[in-house]
Amino acid sequence: STTNSNSPPSFLRFSFRSFSIRAMASHIVGYPRMGPKRELKFALESFWDGKSSAEDLQKVSADLRSSIWKQMSDAGIKLIPSNTFSYYDQVLDTTAMIGAVPPRYGWNGGEIGFDVYFSMARGNASVPAMEMTKWFDTNYHYIVPELGPEVNFSYASHKAVNEYKEAKALGVETVPVLVGPVSYLLLSKPAKGVEKSFSLLSLLDKILPVYQEVVTELKAAGATWIQFDEPKLVMDLAAHELQAFTHAYSVLEASLSGLDVLIATYFADVPVEAYKTLTSLKSVTAFGFDLVRGTKTLDLVKGGFPSGKYLFAGVVDGRNIWANDLASSLSTLNALEGIVGKDKLVVSTSCSLLHTAVDLVNETKLDQEIKSWLAFAAQKVVEVNALAKALSGQKDEAFFSANAAALASRKSSPRVTNEAVQKAAAALKDSDHRRVTNVSARLDAQQKKLNLPILPTTTIGSFPQTMDLRRVRREYKAKKISEENYVEAMKEEINKVVKIQEELDIDVLVHGEPERNDMVEYFGEQLSGFAFTANGWVQSYGSRCVKPPIIYGDVSRPKAMTVFWSSIAQSMTKRPMKGMLTGPVTILNWSFVRNDQPRFETCYQIALAIKDEVEDLEKAGIAVIQIDEAALREGLPLRKSEHTFYLDWAVHSFRITNCGVKDTTQIHTHMCYSNFNDIIHSIIDMDADVITIENSRSDEKLLSVFREGVKYGAGIGPGVYDIHSPRIPSEEEIADRIEKMLAVLESNILWVNPDCGLKTRKYTEVKPALSHMVAAAKRLRTKL
Ligand code: GLN
Ligand code: ZN
Repeated sequence: STTNSNSPPSFLRFSFRSFSIRAMASHIVGYPRMGPKRELKFALESFWDGKSSAEDLQKVSADLRSSIWKQMSDAGIKLIPSNTFSYYDQVLDTTAMIGAVPPRYGWNGGEIGFDVYFSMARGNASVPAMEMTKWFDTNYHYIVPELGPEVNFSYASHKAVNEYKEAKALGVETVPVLVGPVSYLLLSKPAKGVEKSFSLLSLLDKILPVYQEVVTELKAAGATWIQFDEPKLVMDLAAHELQAFTHAYSVLEASLSGLDVLIATYFADVPVEAYKTLTSLKSVTAFGFDLVRGTKTLDLVKGGFPSGKYLFAGVVDGRNIWANDLASSLSTLNALEGIVGKDKLVVSTSCSLLHTAVDLVNETKLDQEIKSWLAFAAQKVVEVNALAKALSGQKDEAFFSANAAALASRKSSPRVTNEAVQKAAAALKDSDHRRVTNVSARLDAQQKKLNLPILPTTTIGSFPQTMDLRRVRREYKAKKISEENYVEAMKEEINKVVKIQEELDIDVLVHGEPERNDMVEYFGEQLSGFAFTANGWVQSYGSRCVKPPIIYGDVSRPKAMTVFWSSIAQSMTKRPMKGMLTGPVTILNWSFVRNDQPRFETCYQIALAIKDEVEDLEKAGIAVIQIDEAALREGLPLRKSEHTFYLDWAVHSFRITNCGVKDTTQIHTHMCYSNFNDIIHSIIDMDADVITIENSRSDEKLLSVFREGVKYGAGIGPGVYDIHSPRIPSEEEIADRIEKMLAVLESNILWVNPDCGLKTRKYTEVKPALSHMVAAAKRLRTKL
């Protein structure tokens, strides 16, 4: 590492710096906004429904912010973030900050209020919402900025400054957090009409003046630190994109002078080139790295770190719910301290705690043993502080030994380890697991048995879930109604769904999934190795939260999970009834996964459990089995160099589930995204007999892959209408879409189905939509 000629003489550094910094070595990147009991969700939804006022919403929000600041301050955290609260999304907040409101929302300048803000987020009566997309590889979704060459930026939301002042008034000094200008632009999309011709980074010099204004105002309000989140730095960036960081932070240099400036990166390590660019930024005094997912971060720092600057070491995992291994973190921190110097190391979280659950205190149903293995956001704050104190020579021995004991109990617990499962999963790694017969021969064998018309029709699984249905499930769970009554009610529902499909003349039926609350939870509850929280909510988008199961142990299947319902359903009809399962990769990607073995090992274990279920369904006479892999693409790593490894084990896991079935058993899978072109070869490698995919955004994109000559021999059902909208498509419109597909795909492999499950729709929408779908398929059959 280099020596910094600007640093003060050592005697000065000691007396001035060591005092303040010794007490300052703890930081949190960001905190969940929803509140421990989803208070913000309910306040937002009631405001949107017109049931409460803007003031009510502001009050709930201010209370949440103040309790979070107080909690961090009481825990001893020295660098507490502000402006990580949001009414909807931090990227949308940034869009508001720089006044980048798309013209269709009719904003006329001035401070952006709830009206314009929520219209961008959710649409209004006349204008649809802005697009939403996944935040890196998390389950959080942000509102994608739409920028064109015409945008006039202006300082239009003072939220960052207001929240800084609000905390200060409460006696809490905070680090205001902004989405960095370069990541912001790289996360944006070109506005309609300029898609091809326009470089988003060309706007950099236009947005920096707004950032300068914000920084100046924060300084005037008394801020001494500022944090820029630049997570794009962990991606594969081109040289000109890296240069944009150098340019931006040199333009900001004058405004930033006098401040300590942190650039936070997270979700992976920073590639070598980006690390060089980042650590050479002159106006920046602190760099934050993810040391949990960023497995190479330590080596990067060992290779050189600018002297006199701070390293924020993200050792406490913001993406998971496990208690930190404090002893191991402490040794990492000690190693880092040896490199960057005693007063330059700050203990931090790997990323914002937004992506973990809020507070373990509210988990009254989890047993004590499992609870001792966990840490949610509130507990992680305490861990960060404990590590910082230990680093400064005030180790809380009792806290550390309780942590060590919990970790030891997790390691040795018979609830975690199942030797037989470990062995079976380990044996899978090196073999291929493929059905012996190739897909076209299988399809022939299946057709002989199923005797389906050309362009067969089907649906994706779930049928509308009425209030009544949800109530029955809830009452059964709460033991308010008997098993017998519950089964009776479900049978009745299944029978209704079967009759509807027969009347509609659909070819391959489903039972409608009335017994399932959630496609992952339903299986998790029946498998060993899973635990469920009462309040472990994580924000997905806006007011929407998900409650992922926790996979804590080796996964096994004590008994059949779906055979009872599928058999009942099949007995109600002569038509083929699809068995309906969730695939291993989706179960994995939608859960909090154990961190004591590689993800693929856990995935293989789930695959084995699902394999048993597939084979039991086959034995029970179910000839078509759908194994949903809705979230397979979601698990794709951020960096291209890691894609192949992930796709290989993910696809392998899927094949494990069904490699043992007869040729005549037809395996379907379903995927929930339209963007499948870049992983088409992996999808083919899954070797399913039929795949149905979401296709609502564009037929063109999907079809282009086949036009380009990709060989595809299996059955394929690109969704012919969008189930996310209440709109009822016409027969003509559906027929039109099928015809477009027939121009590129062989008629004998094409299936006709909606985009996804019908769970959230109403029967008044579903019945006419499906009837138009069947009519369209029939019309085209006569033409073939
Ligand atoms: N079978 C599930 C359903 O129809 C699939 C849902 C999904 O892919 N998200 O609800
Ligand atoms: Zn879907």
